Amino acid sequence: MFLKKRAGILKTVTFRLSVWYALLFSLSAAGFFFIISFTLTKSLDDHMNTTLIEEITEVRGIFNAHGIAAFQEDIVREAESIGTHRSFLRMVDSDNKTLASSDMSYWQEIHPLGKRTLGLNETVAETFAVPGSDNRVRVVSQGIGAGWVIQIGSSLEDNDELIDAYHRISAAAFASMLVCGGILGWFMAKRAMSGVERVTVTAAGIGKDDLVSRVPVGGEGEEIDNLVRAFNDMLSRIQDVVNELKEVTNNIAHDLRSPITRIRGISETTMTGEQDIDSYQEMAGIVVEECDRLVGMINVMLEIAMTEASIPGARREEVDMVDLLKNAHEIFLTIAEDKGVSLGIRTGLEHFMIRGDLPQLQRMISNLLDNAIKFTPRGGEVIISLENNEDQVVISVRDTGIGIPEQEQQKIFDKFYRCDQNRSKPGNGLGLSHVRAIVRAHGGNITIKSSPDKGSVFMVTIPCG
Ligand code: ADP
Repeated sequence: MFLKKRAGILKTVTFRLSVWYALLFSLSAAGFFFIISFTLTKSLDDHMNTTLIEEITEVRGIFNAHGIAAFQEDIVREAESIGTHRSFLRMVDSDNKTLASSDMSYWQEIHPLGKRTLGLNETVAETFAVPGSDNRVRVVSQGIGAGWVIQIGSSLEDNDELIDAYHRISAAAFASMLVCGGILGWFMAKRAMSGVERVTVTAAGIGKDDLVSRVPVGGEGEEIDNLVRAFNDMLSRIQDVVNELKEVTNNIAHDLRSPITRIRGISETTMTGEQDIDSYQEMAGIVVEECDRLVGMINVMLEIAMTEASIPGARREEVDMVDLLKNAHEIFLTIAEDKGVSLGIRTGLEHFMIRGDLPQLQRMISNLLDNAIKFTPRGGEVIISLENNEDQVVISVRDTGIGIPEQEQQKIFDKFYRCDQNRSKPGNGLGLSHVRAIVRAHGGNITIKSSPDKGSVFMVTIPCG
């Protein structure tokens, strides 16, 4: 259980970010320490070289002025004043034979030049390990002519101690930076991820009955705030879809219940009492009618689903919209006349071609005309018109009917929605959702303007191509 939890922590973004922080922190620190160490070593070496060369210049002056005996006396004094374990001075000839030197008992195994000789004023600086100790010595050799060389060596013990101390401090600082970087990284990552955690907690808390909860925008940074907003938007959209589904399911249940109840009632009557043959035929007729209604409704639902799922542009042919409207006008003229509604058509054009699905476009105009005539009282007027707007066709179906209350104007495109005032009229509430699905499948748009008692205008815009 504990191991599982630990493995879980290792996989978290917070842990990985902390490790990255710690690594970055310490790597930058290591780079910094390395540069300082390099610079420090180099400047100590340079300083040592300069000091030793100055020293050679001084003793060389004594040799030049007073000869080898004065030179010997001076270098012995010089080495003793510094410490014979800390420095030495020596003069050798071209065979590397010692001509004068300070106490060399500690340094005797160090022969910097070996068989080499140096030209006049030629200077060489080298570092050697002191045999039998951990110390190192810096030796500067300078040719003074005729193959003779003055050598001066100085122990690097102090410098090495300084550099060692620096390395120890750096290592301690590096270790604490690794730990601090990890801790700091953990807190920073924890804070950065707190918004994500809030989203997770809210998402986990959302059950099927709670779609109203939203994650508060916490100001943890633009990215997290955007994530929270996107998550909340997604929740709102899911909530809308679920609500719509609930509404559609309720409507389907309601619309299916009435014909089924009627069929069931009739079936019961035929089972319970003797009826004459005419009554049986009448009842059978009603059952067939209700069954047709049910099948019709299911077919329309399937058609809508197929239109909504269809690939835009599929099954397209050249359709003359003026022709299509004129045909529809002709077909609906009798129905309108029977109802005492005048049906007119206005198109200033002879032809207007678009690419579309003919049966679907016919279904679209039929549904709009059917509604316009159905919801316009006797004496009213319905006008179909077609206009050309750049590369779009604009078809309007205008009526002087009962209109649609503002609060219901967007709902009428939902499946099974019927305005409260018209529930007694024939219909199943699928006509306009079918129209909208067809218009959208053609890449177009449908809008409505309506005011109660003045009538409605449905305006469909479809691109030509
Ligand atoms: P229905 O089969 O009920 O006509 P629709 O989807 O075609 O279904 O229309 C949905 C509802 O919109 C109708 O029930 C009606 O209340 C309202 N409606 C549609 N067209 C008009 C119109 N031209 N005038 C007034 N109300 C309309």
